[in-house]
Amino acid sequence: MAWDFETDPDYQAKLDWVSDFVREKVEPLDYLFPHEQFVPLDDAKRKIIDPLKAEVRAQGMWATHLSPELSGQGHGQLKLGLLNEILGRSLWASVVFGCQAPDTGNAEIIAHYGTDEQKTTYLQPLLDGEMFSSYSMTEPHAGADPTMFTTKAVRDGDEWVINGWKYFSSNAKTASFLIVMVVTNSDVSAYAGMSMFLVPTDTPGVKLVRNVGLWGEAMNEGFHSLIHYEDVRVPASALLGGEGQAFAIAQTRLGGGRIHHAMRTIGMAQKALDMMCERALSRETQGSLLADKQFVQGYIADSYAQLVQFRLFVLYTAWEIDKYNDYKRVRKDIAVAKVVMPTVLHDIAWRAMQVHGALGTTNEMPFFGMIHGAGVMGLADGPTEVHKITVARQVLRDYKPTDGMWPSEWIPGKIDAAKAKYADLLELEVGNL
Ligand SMILES: Cc1cc2nc3c(=O)[nH]c(=O)nc-3n(C[C@H](O)[C@H](O)[C@H](O)COP(=O)(O)OP(=O)(O)OC[C@H]3O[C@@H](n4cnc5c(N)ncnc54)[C@H](O)[C@@H]3O)c2cc1C
Repeated sequence: MAWDFETDPDYQAKLDWVSDFVREKVEPLDYLFPHEQFVPLDDAKRKIIDPLKAEVRAQGMWATHLSPELSGQGHGQLKLGLLNEILGRSLWASVVFGCQAPDTGNAEIIAHYGTDEQKTTYLQPLLDGEMFSSYSMTEPHAGADPTMFTTKAVRDGDEWVINGWKYFSSNAKTASFLIVMVVTNSDVSAYAGMSMFLVPTDTPGVKLVRNVGLWGEAMNEGFHSLIHYEDVRVPASALLGGEGQAFAIAQTRLGGGRIHHAMRTIGMAQKALDMMCERALSRETQGSLLADKQFVQGYIADSYAQLVQFRLFVLYTAWEIDKYNDYKRVRKDIAVAKVVMPTVLHDIAWRAMQVHGALGTTNEMPFFGMIHGAGVMGLADGPTEVHKITVARQVLRDYKPTDGMWPSEWIPGKIDAAKAKYADLLELEVGNL
């Protein structure tokens, strides 16, 4: 009987340490340095953050997203899920633990497909937490459909020359390098004609035209760049993986990235539920606590039910990734987690906001940020609709059309079949009467 929902005691002790450490030492960073987690550390911040990273390292919990065979010290996706659901409480936590998106996904593909030289130049500094990276795939005119991308690289002797536009390249303004997905052969299908390049951000011709901000951030001071690649020359050695391999690489990267977002979302949704419950037990109106009102009890029950289902499913999917070591095989369930994630976070954060009354809507509470985060989760790494299509296609693979005119579960047909199956026995029984 192999089904098991227990965490081994040694790792649970680590998680208990992480939980206290994040609440006591890391969450304060969210208030001291809001939204600065992807800005390279200055001396003042280093004094606070480097010792915290050292504590994480000493506990063996630093950068555990990659397994040892990929140069990391990871414990697998299931254990990463249990860790990430704690880190999801805080914006700074994944940086302090060396496992922040998009660097985790970028590190993963360099570990899988990079040359030794690329691993030394890019992977090691990423794993050391001394470098940020950006994934530059979406274009201004095309996001959900990568077959429409037009940014291209043309071979010129020992170099490639990249031209085109990319949009929403997260953290490009603080990243040391970009992983750019471009067309290298327009004569074949996009699935065979696109490649990825590792491009240092300071390469001549890389122009960050605008740093798009999310809602609430100052105009042009955000972290999602519109980039013009204008005659950007990179050596042939900048190619990541083989020519034409971009789609396969993207699937590796995005599969991991999506489930990691889902893991962290559990933590954020749990935080919203915690706040909802605390408020329900603290606020009285019309003669009783909010916790005694049936509507509020409904909010709490629905939220708990949504969260617990989501959490179990995400951990199950992580377990599948560990078991099969094949993102393609687990694609359907990763897509399901991606589809469900925005709704779970949105619903729980919305109810928590409602229970807080007017205070809940203010910038003195985090609920709108969470709700906005839910909207972002419905788009980053691909829109919900596209993932639903993936789920439906994969589900349908296990079915075939009915042979006849009626559905196979058509009751008159079932009755006839049942009678035919047991005809001998039925006749016997009738005969005995
Ligand atoms: C916070 C954030 C960070 C991001 N970071 C990065 C990054 O680092 N690098 C990067 O390259 N990109 C990044 N993205 C971009 C993201 O990958 C795209 O937004 C996403 O792929 C959708 O592309 P689009 O925005 O162009 O929407 P479109 O492709 O224009 O789609 C718009 C809408 O159309 C509908 N739609 C699209 N396709 C279908 C379909 N087949 N069936 C039904 N409906 C459909 C959906 O409602 C969809 O939301 C980020 C996005 C966000 C919000």
